[in-house]
Amino acid sequence: MQQTTREWQQLDASHHLHPFTDFQALNKKGSRIITKASGVYLEDSDGQRILDGMAGLWCVNMGYGRQELVNAATQQMQQLPYYNLFFQTAHPPVIELATLLTEITPPHLNQVFFTGSGSECNDTVLRMVRHYWASKGQPEKQVIISRHNAYHGSTVAGASLGGMKGMHAQGGLPIPGIVHIDQPYHFGEGQGISPHEFGLERARQLEQKILELGVDKVAAFIGEPIQGAGGVIIPPDSYWPEIQRICDHYGILLIADEVICGFGRTGHWFASEGFGIKPDLMCLAKGITSGYLPLGAVMVSDRVAKVLVEEGGEFNHGFTYSGHPVACAVAIANIKLMQSESIVKRVNETIGPYLQRRWRELADHPLVGETRGKGLVAALEIVQDKRTNQRFPTAANAGMTCREFCFNNGLVMRAVGDTMIISPPLVITEEQVDELVSLARRSLDLTA
Ligand code: PLP
Repeated sequence: MQQTTREWQQLDASHHLHPFTDFQALNKKGSRIITKASGVYLEDSDGQRILDGMAGLWCVNMGYGRQELVNAATQQMQQLPYYNLFFQTAHPPVIELATLLTEITPPHLNQVFFTGSGSECNDTVLRMVRHYWASKGQPEKQVIISRHNAYHGSTVAGASLGGMKGMHAQGGLPIPGIVHIDQPYHFGEGQGISPHEFGLERARQLEQKILELGVDKVAAFIGEPIQGAGGVIIPPDSYWPEIQRICDHYGILLIADEVICGFGRTGHWFASEGFGIKPDLMCLAKGITSGYLPLGAVMVSDRVAKVLVEEGGEFNHGFTYSGHPVACAVAIANIKLMQSESIVKRVNETIGPYLQRRWRELADHPLVGETRGKGLVAALEIVQDKRTNQRFPTAANAGMTCREFCFNNGLVMRAVGDTMIISPPLVITEEQVDELVSLARRSLDLTA
């Protein structure tokens, strides 16, 4: 189909309901039609080049147009495009990927349960941790503690585990047995308290909640090492060690949702390693295939796997596309590419520090209250008054305005309220980082 931009927009408005979108508002404005991409750049239907500062949706880690991934998909499609794993069957790509994942994740994670997405991973862990405790003879241990403003996906269980008020308001969520404590968002909620004290205070809410509910009722705690969609909330250094201590002390399971943080984003293969967390379950998706195909994986620790295998009986759970062979083949090629290009080392030692240094220069802008980041993920806070960090009124939509200026200037930067976020492909070069930062500054100037 060869269409003009206007024709595409009309067809899109007539027949397509977008995720997380005010349909009417979008239809009035018309969607931006992305037609192709290469490296870190997108191209739209008018031929404009756009630097993708979000790696798609935090996922195109190895950049667009990687022939190695295309070849892996093509070959696997020809060899075996699909087979299921339900009826005591497996196939080479799923076995090879499971093995590879246990090699690159921390040593105590040696079993994998495959899904088709990050949300499905979180549905899986919800059922898995409850099944784990039931199998150990403690079926009353049901409650999962999460955090306000967390994002764990958009299925009913994922959105319930997540702490997004707007999502809870639609569809009567959260489902029973999920409670939320506060997030470790120092800039937004900890002004006047040292980051160290604030981190401890927020972590100790977990202990208070466990004691309030009764330890015999609590199954697990779930958290993103760095909250992504909530606004790139980087916890103070004191936070995760205290969470780990509390989980260990009360014997509750720790689930790390690494759907965004995994696969090199923070300069480690998995952010849990950087924060010193030892999760019982780890959720992976997005960067596992660099977003070329949908795939998710729940890494299961020896402690949990032993109970599931020896005492759990049949686990009545799974998806048609669990461990899809083509997605697995792409994931294997993607991980091997990451290894051959030493991409994690690059994020940790060169391009990550470079981006963080350049990004922090934006702190001198009159609209910027804070810049923060780790590896190749970063955020800045737009404020009306830099001295007091007072925000613009919500109705001013400063974040959305800045995002629009970015897009029109050729940069994808995401807005979560007035928090601006970047998470570019891990293959971005120093020159492209310079371009990103100067486009961000120009857009901030226009927002002012
Ligand atoms: N978990 C986290 C931390 C995420 O950021 C996301 C998506 O952004 C999900 C889960 C859900 O993943 P998916 O959209 O693949 O279902």
